[in-house]
Amino acid sequence: MKDTIVLYSAIGRGHIFSVVELGKLILTHNPSFSITILIPTPPNTATVDTTTFGCDSSITFHHIPISPPPSGTTLSPPSMIFHLVRYGNHNLHQVLQSISKISKIKAVVLDFLNYTANEVTTTLDIPTFYYHTSGAAPLSVLLYYKTIKESKKNEQCNYIEIQGFPRILKEELPSYPEELENIFLDLVATMSGSNGIIINTFHALEGRGIKALQEGSCFPDESNPAPIFCIGPVISVPGGEKDENGCLSWLDSQPSQSVVLLSFGSLGRFSKTQLKEIAIGLEKSEQRFLWVVRSESDEDSLEDLLPEGFLDRTKEKGLVVRNWAPQVKILSHDSVGGFVTHCGWNSVLEAVGEGVPMVAWPLYAEQHLNKIGLVQEMKIALALKESENGIVSATELGDRVKELMDSDKGREIRERVLKMKESSVEARSEGGSSYVDLNRLIRLWKEKDHLSLLSPNT
Ligand code: UDP
Repeated sequence: MKDTIVLYSAIGRGHIFSVVELGKLILTHNPSFSITILIPTPPNTATVDTTTFGCDSSITFHHIPISPPPSGTTLSPPSMIFHLVRYGNHNLHQVLQSISKISKIKAVVLDFLNYTANEVTTTLDIPTFYYHTSGAAPLSVLLYYKTIKESKKNEQCNYIEIQGFPRILKEELPSYPEELENIFLDLVATMSGSNGIIINTFHALEGRGIKALQEGSCFPDESNPAPIFCIGPVISVPGGEKDENGCLSWLDSQPSQSVVLLSFGSLGRFSKTQLKEIAIGLEKSEQRFLWVVRSESDEDSLEDLLPEGFLDRTKEKGLVVRNWAPQVKILSHDSVGGFVTHCGWNSVLEAVGEGVPMVAWPLYAEQHLNKIGLVQEMKIALALKESENGIVSATELGDRVKELMDSDKGREIRERVLKMKESSVEARSEGGSSYVDLNRLIRLWKEKDHLSLLSPNT
């Protein structure tokens, strides 16, 4: 009977890709394991086509159907992100039991958004680890949340100090509804007492923050922190992704490192007003650009959204595409020299992995914290300032793009991110920090002969 590690992905493309890559990475370090990947399938959602992931037979997939929440459930959408998988827990229980008939489950790794699934792993007494798909900084803030909540009330001080991380101005911290804050506290209690937390980061990128986490200073119980394993960068390279908009062939005809990419993740959408400001700013910057435009309504054509004549005037210098582009392949293209990003963690790691300097424009989730790290700690991005009405003006965008692509400061940032690219390769190579951490984790899994309530006969 083969030993298996079960990885339970959260809902969403970025999370599933990241978990699949984690599975592949574990196998390169220990081919004697098998990997079982669980994918939650919410009501009225098509199952994910797992054949596109390019996995061999050591990785198997199971879909976990999620039942509709009981009628009268009033959780807000952000809270629901953390709670939805709970409605699939009875199915998870059955699937784990059936897996255990053919494999020995050494550990379950839950995407941290799926923490409510720990109700099942605890009942079955399976060692449970958490996979934090983002970096060390947002994890520290999360673990420190109780203290942050209390110190927010102290009007004497306008910042929060977390060890290993630059000061955070209170105004930079998003405010959350109480229901979500309570979920954070619950999540922290669950993760802190777990067998370990796996983080998609590496020491050269977030050294101070990782050290503080390992020393336990952000944990509610400093004397007993969960073990930390930093195994990144885990970057998903979607195989066979089509270049329907011709981005790559367009880049082939552009000079080396001359193009700035503007792309804002899977959810980043802008109002018509904001899109117009971006367009004017790009034109003013006189830089070459590849812009992935996602608007609030998919109905509008590019002509409706952008200033009159913009596409025609900029056709020699720019390519504008709707909704989606093969970002990883674009970032790895020699013509790309800069990236205006929403600071989603996958995008950040992809840019670092290709040595592309950034302009940081955070939009949602933990991205404001990622921006602070990128700009103040790692110094591999320029910050973009919003006006008081929440809009980034054309002048601000144009100036920052020009600064990134054509100034001494921009060149310094490029040199720094190129060094970070080398460090990211070293981290995963034999003897590197992520290599060592992953081996430590695998040793733990191999040695751990837990007293699971699951036996081949249950
Ligand atoms: N992505 C892409 N094309 C796009 C937009 C996004 O391939 O037009 C990919 C990007 O390369 C990254 C993921 O989608 O792997 C987005 O993840 P990230 O963590 O950056 O942002 P999120 O979508 O989670 O906010």
